[in-house]
Amino acid sequence: MLHLDHVTKRYGAFTAVNDVTLHLPVGQIFGFLGPNGAGKTTTMKMIAGLIRPTEGHVRVDGIDVVRDPLAAKRCIGYVPDRPSLYERLTPVEYCDFVAGLYGMTEAEARPRSTELLALFGLGEHRSALIESFSHGMKQRLVMASVLLHRPRLLVVDEPMVGLDPRGARLLKDVLRRSAREDGLTVMLSTHTLEVADELCDRMAVIHRGRLVGVGSPAELRTATGAEGQKLEEVFLALTEEEAVAPPR
Ligand code: ATP
Repeated sequence: MLHLDHVTKRYGAFTAVNDVTLHLPVGQIFGFLGPNGAGKTTTMKMIAGLIRPTEGHVRVDGIDVVRDPLAAKRCIGYVPDRPSLYERLTPVEYCDFVAGLYGMTEAEARPRSTELLALFGLGEHRSALIESFSHGMKQRLVMASVLLHRPRLLVVDEPMVGLDPRGARLLKDVLRRSAREDGLTVMLSTHTLEVADELCDRMAVIHRGRLVGVGSPAELRTATGAEGQKLEEVFLALTEEEAVAPPR
């Protein structure tokens, strides 16, 4: 479903993402982990078609995101790490707006937005202004809106930030069900390793722009000799910094 082939992103002399090759099959929930500044957001923006790779190719369902950006975007739902909403709209108006961007008519969009707003616990608030919403409610609205056009690939940067335990459980359940029943492929970045461990079929760890581990949580544990231990141990082993010489 998602293919990254030797994807590199350079800013001047600095290489933010270095020769990343990944393949996500249909219906997989894939976790993208790495320390701050490792290259997760940069990679996800390249998948979403917001920035261009310096080298390499990204294909979504066989469509090259640089050569055929509109066709690729039709298949993708992207939630950035800091989503922006139009706060003077209501959730229904916002969903109409997003659906319109994807070419959906109001007749197609309204039943779908009603269903998704209810699913994300916003049914009662559908006519309130977004500016009155808490951070978690805004997060849930973004998730509802990104599913309107029935994307086949969902790319989510830090989906759990700001969600309370009930909201986090709801989102995990929706992602699991969508992957299993609708074949939605999900790539999510997170610093919450318990979420990755619980939710993801496979994951990759990126460090200083390079992939340093790819596999199921169990495979990564075996590869790092961390069987039976928390994913934190795997993460720390894969992203170990070289020893810094003590000051003289
Ligand atoms: P975090 O976990 O902190 O969100 P991340 O893994 O998402 O980190 P990125 O945002 O992808 O990291 O950034 C990777 C590196 O690329 C960082 O060193 C960042 O400073 C650099 N970078 C990102 N965007 C640009 C840009 N437009 N120009 C120059 N450098 C950039």
